[in-house]
Amino acid sequence: MPDKIDLKSLSQKELFSFAKAQGLSKYRVGQLLHWIYEKYTRDLQEITEFSKALREDIGKISYISNLALVTRQRSKDGIEKFLFALEDGQTIESVMIPDDDRRTLCISSQVGCAMACNFCLTGEMGLIRNLKAHEIVDQIISVNRLISPERISNIVFMGMGEPLANFDEVVKALWRITEFIGISKRKITLSTSGLVPRMLELPGRAPDVNLAISLNATTDEIRDRLMPINKKYPLKVLLDACRRYPLQLQRVITFEYVLIDRVNDSMEDAKRLVRKLKGIPCKLNLIPYNPHEGSGLKRPAHERVLAFQKVLKDNQMTAFIRESKGQDILAACGQLRGKRDNRENNACC
Ligand code: SF4
Repeated sequence: MPDKIDLKSLSQKELFSFAKAQGLSKYRVGQLLHWIYEKYTRDLQEITEFSKALREDIGKISYISNLALVTRQRSKDGIEKFLFALEDGQTIESVMIPDDDRRTLCISSQVGCAMACNFCLTGEMGLIRNLKAHEIVDQIISVNRLISPERISNIVFMGMGEPLANFDEVVKALWRITEFIGISKRKITLSTSGLVPRMLELPGRAPDVNLAISLNATTDEIRDRLMPINKKYPLKVLLDACRRYPLQLQRVITFEYVLIDRVNDSMEDAKRLVRKLKGIPCKLNLIPYNPHEGSGLKRPAHERVLAFQKVLKDNQMTAFIRESKGQDILAACGQLRGKRDNRENNACC
């Protein structure tokens, strides 16, 4: 409906301006926000707090956009993957990870990704386009509606795309997730491949969400190969920025480290990692690589993963082994591609 205003695309300020122009009170804006973000309404006609005449009046100039669910898949280990179509027909994926009373949603920020990390299927797509803020937020609203009466409790920006490469829309989305949907900033994690200037700009522009860095190497030589962004912002620049990052009290930076057999998983790498991260309040997530066809990379043996973790632990570092779930539906780390064809389905770590 390009000739009408999409109410979901409006910020609170824009919604107030819209309401003012239509002669609606501030109270009505509150009602709209409640119906869109808390009751997940898909259509203005569902807003029964408005009279029929009012719904029709507003409906003449505005509407509520919706992501269209294309497929919903459940893995053997309980992960659910949602493929959504956008208004222009592009598709994106979101992955829900249930864990006791938590429901974490891994959301996408771009269709595809320009970062070209060579362990990631999304990177093979190249960048198709940035998502608008409401398309990012709508992944949460849509999944909330699908799993109701349960609700998403935690958000990770680790789906398709590099969030900081779509900075302005991601910042807007972060405000809407905290203010409109009501998810605490402490329960939101944004993961970056290392866009240093944007990373340092984030705390001044967005709510204080948790920061994760997709690190994956301890030398520039290896990181250049795995993550081309390293050529622009090498390890020293990235880690110096981490040291300067203004962390709130009792917060740490999470470093994601995908362990790839004989590439970045040696004992030397583990020892170098300890040295490189010295002085940064952090924890590490070690993620054994999920192989995909054509990458030429292998998953390390479990003993190598344990030995790598031991070096970190012996040096008083907090390091968890995170086995990616959802591999049977290509929902695991590095596997999102936002396509209907199963062979091609798979995101960022
Ligand atoms: S790992 Fe993340 S930043 Fe790298 S290509 Fe994949 S989606 Fe992009």
